[in-house]
This record gives sequence, C-alpha cells and structure tokens, in this order.
Amino acid sequence: MRLILMGPPGAGKGTQAKVVADHFGIPAISTGDIFRANVSQGTPLGKKAQEYMDAGEYVPDEVTNLMVRARIDEPDADPGFLLDGYPRTLAQVEELDGMIRHTGHELDAAVVLTVDPDEIVARLVQRAEVEGRTDDTEEVVRRRQEVYVEQTEPLIEVYRRRGIVHEIDGMGAVEEVTKRIFCALDVVPQS
Ligand code: AMP
Repeated sequence: MRLILMGPPGAGKGTQAKVVADHFGIPAISTGDIFRANVSQGTPLGKKAQEYMDAGEYVPDEVTNLMVRARIDEPDADPGFLLDGYPRTLAQVEELDGMIRHTGHELDAAVVLTVDPDEIVARLVQRAEVEGRTDDTEEVVRRRQEVYVEQTEPLIEVYRRRGIVHEIDGMGAVEEVTKRIFCALDVVPQS
C-alpha cells in the first residue's frame, strides 16, 4: 500500500498517520518529524531546514526530495509506505511519481483530512504549549496556513484527476476519524 496523507497544518495528520500505517503494516514517514529530528541533533540537514521551518516556509524541494528518496529506499518501505506531509509542492508530486514508478508500483490513495479553520488554530496553539514547537507561534501558524493554501491545496486537484482522492472529515474524536479513514481505504485496490 502506498499512501499519502494531506490536509492543512493542525488537521491531525501525524496522529492518524501512525495508526493507519500500523493497520497496513507499513512505515509512517513524516517529513516534518525527520526535519525536527535533524534540527534537534544539529545535523547539516537540520541546519539547512531550521530557518525555513521557523518562518513557516517550506524547505527547498531539492533538500526535501533527496531526504524522502533515501527514506523510501530503506527496506522497511518495500511493502509500501504512508507519507505524512509529502508531497507539498508540484515539483514534489513529480519527484514522488518518479520514485514510485521506479519500484513498479503506483500511488494507491491520497487521503485528505478536512477541518474547520477555527478548530485548527485552537489545536495548533494547544500543541505549541504541549510540545514546545518553535514554529507554532500565532504569526508562523498563520503563515503555514497561507503556504498550504498557495502551494499544497492545488495538489488535491492533481490527485483528484487521477481518481485516488479520499476526502475525510477530520473533525471529531481521533478514533472516529480513524474509522472513517479505514472505511475509505479498506476497499482501495493495492498496486
Ligand atoms: P509538519 O510537521 O509536517 O507540519 O512540517 C513542519 C515543517 O517542516 C513545515 O512547516 C516545513 O517547514 C517543513 N516540511 C515538512 N514537510 C515538508 C515538505 N514536504 N516540503 C517542504 N518542507 C516541509
């Protein structure tokens, strides 16, 4: 199973990604988590990514694409993977297509979590307090939403034309949202 999970910052992608990936026996690969791990370890990749992350901007495609390519080349991703937070730009869509084509498979589904914008701000502010994330200040939160609308929302249409989009209501209890995702994905044929 090869899946991507989309939705605006704060839609609950990370929480759902882990449960859904476990269900299908595939790794959940979060580009945001990989970047944060590199920032906290002070690696060269982390140093490149931090200023973009702190400003709520996207890390350049070349950096992100190389990182994802290396990650999905790892053996645990042979049976498939769930990408959380990638692709986010049209250039990343093309890059991912190339990576998957190379393995002889196809992208099976794009799950899009939809949420109420007011709810998102509340969630992100709460998360900032709990996790101490430096990219969750109000100004940066707003910028991240704008960048999502400008650069990432158009990708939904690209995948819709391929007939693989599953729009899921992301509001409500975590378990309810998970159930909705399973209902949609359990009938998806795997390439
Ligand atoms: P996330 O945890 O998915 O919200 O990601 C946190 C931050 O990491 C984003 O605001 C970006 O700065 C960076 N990032 C994560 N994924 C990507 C991506 N696919 N392309 C570019 N930047 C990304």
